[in-house]
Amino acid sequence: MLNQSKKTLSAKTSNSFLTLSIAPAKVIRGSQILNQAVSYISRLGNRPLIVSGNKTLDIADNYLELLESEGLDFVKSSYTPDCSESSLEILRDKAQAHEADVIIGIGGGKALDTAKLLAHHLEIPVVTIPTSAATCAAWTALSNVYSDEGAFLYDVALDSCPDLLILDYDLIQTAPQSTLVAGIGDAIAKWYEASVSSGHSEQTLIISAVQQARILRDILLQKSVAALQSPGSEVWQEVVDATVLLAGVIGGIGGAQCRTVAAHAVHNGLTHVCGSGSIHGEKVAYGILVQLRLEEMLQGNQLAATARQQLLKFYTEIGLPQKLDDLGLGNITLKQLQKAAEFALQPNSDIHRLPFKVALEQLMAAMVSTTAPVEASGISNSLNSPSNQTKKFSGSKSQRKA
Ligand SMILES: [Zn+2]
Repeated sequence: MLNQSKKTLSAKTSNSFLTLSIAPAKVIRGSQILNQAVSYISRLGNRPLIVSGNKTLDIADNYLELLESEGLDFVKSSYTPDCSESSLEILRDKAQAHEADVIIGIGGGKALDTAKLLAHHLEIPVVTIPTSAATCAAWTALSNVYSDEGAFLYDVALDSCPDLLILDYDLIQTAPQSTLVAGIGDAIAKWYEASVSSGHSEQTLIISAVQQARILRDILLQKSVAALQSPGSEVWQEVVDATVLLAGVIGGIGGAQCRTVAAHAVHNGLTHVCGSGSIHGEKVAYGILVQLRLEEMLQGNQLAATARQQLLKFYTEIGLPQKLDDLGLGNITLKQLQKAAEFALQPNSDIHRLPFKVALEQLMAAMVSTTAPVEASGISNSLNSPSNQTKKFSGSKSQRKA
């Protein structure tokens, strides 16, 4: 049955501009808002199935008592081992046995992806409650499906964004700081991927999505360091909004064309050699450097080289991985590297949205040279000169990368 839905859904993906899913029906955000949000959940259903990770289920226990006191008859279930076909089968049986009329996902990206896809299959509403700012999964009409071992298999375009998104900053603040760092990596990828695949689009909505991706990048470059220094502060909340909400808006408005390119394709490949060694946004952040390296090596694109140097500096400041070693893959064999690259280059991979062809050997070379110094003379100097930068980035073509 899962395979059947997959087929129907992939047909919908190609028509995504006719059926845009831009935003959740309602977003509630603030501090200590979980209590107030219960009444919004009860408008959607009163027999929820709660999908979460094992750890989050414990954290969420207080909240569950609250649901109970409001008369909601819930069951809770873990999505482990992963957002996989086998987990989804088990959860679907549980939901049907409970006669669930709404799904509540509480947790990180994988818990929320599982909750959304389950609700989609059952054709009932879904509520997303992110417990970290590591991805924009709480917002989007998209779920990634993995193997039980955590290897990326495929993504599914859903009929709509969640019916309700509850963003509670206090809950987000309980997550390790590294999750927000990863979220920054995943969100900043929007610019590098959207601009390379859609930077020359004439379509109104796509132009708008690409420009919002640029704004998102600027917000993250300007505010991330301050946000990470003062969790819970106003600037920290702005960065959380950027990674959880604005990143989702861009995916919604831009549709499938504007979503992922090489950075996510490299992430997908890496999940086949390191299922749980690092989290999504960390692999994506590294994937951005690989993508820029490809543009540099295969197109001689000096703006890509400049952008890579800027990002390396930014990554050092906030602690994002710059090379395989930083992802715990310092001892990767040539064979494993090839396996990851081969998956990233599969015929249906998003890497083919790059405006040039990539050979296996070229991708492998880019993957091991993300921190290479810039070869062309003059680029390092221009980095230090704001006036040069403005000049360099003012042309329409170069805006794509700057
Ligand atoms: Zn992502």
